[in-house]
Amino acid sequence: MNRLAEAIAGQGGKRALILSTPHQKAEAERIAASLGPLAAGLFHDATMHTPVDVTERAMAAYNAAGADCVVAIGGGSTIGLGKAIAYRNDALQIVVATTYAGSEVTPILGQTENGQKTTVRGAGILPEVVIYDPELTLGLPVNISVSSGLNAMAHAVEGLYAQDRNPISSMMAVEGLRALKQALPQIVNAPGDIEPRSEALYGSWLCGTVLGAVGMALHHKLCHTLGGSFDLPHAETHAVILPHSSAYNAAAATDALKPAADLFGGSLGGGLYDFAASIGAPMALRDLGMKEADLDHAAELAARNPYWNPRPIERKAIRALLQSAWEGARPR
Ligand code: NAD
Repeated sequence: MNRLAEAIAGQGGKRALILSTPHQKAEAERIAASLGPLAAGLFHDATMHTPVDVTERAMAAYNAAGADCVVAIGGGSTIGLGKAIAYRNDALQIVVATTYAGSEVTPILGQTENGQKTTVRGAGILPEVVIYDPELTLGLPVNISVSSGLNAMAHAVEGLYAQDRNPISSMMAVEGLRALKQALPQIVNAPGDIEPRSEALYGSWLCGTVLGAVGMALHHKLCHTLGGSFDLPHAETHAVILPHSSAYNAAAATDALKPAADLFGGSLGGGLYDFAASIGAPMALRDLGMKEADLDHAAELAARNPYWNPRPIERKAIRALLQSAWEGARPR
């Protein structure tokens, strides 16, 4: 971790506020101790979907500590908090990424206030330094590793058919999918092995970079709606929806999706479903706490504001997609 001290000092930082979730508090304390006087304080209340009230408390901790930078140690929730602070005061951000969500390499911040999730983009939101240390991911529970890996793969699948894709973003997407397809089953079998953990971080960096570079479509819109309005967990929702959103768009983006279909075997939706099932991913929205009675409303919300997607957003077809995802049926 002396690389972290170098990274802080190298950017001109002198007093870092260390951020984590309650779950990773001990890890954050250990790292803070190794930083000596560079660590000015610790805030360990990072929360999923970046609630604004938590950000306000973290801003108060930042000011009280006389901090000049933040060090986010964790996944998308902790990184989101660091971004929210930087969005408000332009703090230097150093991230030690410990899941596969990819937020550390995007200029995107999602925040929640009064039950509404809104997204902002901006150069100041992108962290200045990212550190990937596979040793810190050895303790990422297998179920979170699986869902988080599928969350990363969703960035790549949508990146492949993005309207503003380019040859480099597509190359990165395919390589990211390949790396995660290889790493995730190995992590399930041997969660303490460093090689697949390293490969998964490599894949998540590629997929996250694609997310930051090109526009997303139906899949991310659906997950944003389900997470923001129905409080479903982020990575697990991505894991459940990915085979269904891919099947929805498969015929409308056959050429763009061919490299992914080749990786997962012919029908992309079915292939991704079988892959997810084989690594023990959550398969049904009903298992994540979604109520069947809310599916109509979710379909309406997801179809309400028009946005680009390779296949037009048809409310009835979206409702059918959500029904399949709720039941955990295999898409064709
Ligand atoms: P998370 O950050 O909430 O982490 C899930 C849980 O795993 C937490 O309790 C965390 O402390 C724990 N954890 C993380 N790494 C660990 C490790 N190595 N060992 C042990 N425990 C560990 O989950 P996430 O899926 O990474 O992030 C979800 C959030 O990120 C959502 O709010 C989502 O909107 C946001 N996100 C934003 C972007 C973006 O570009 N803006 C991209 C992806 C996700």
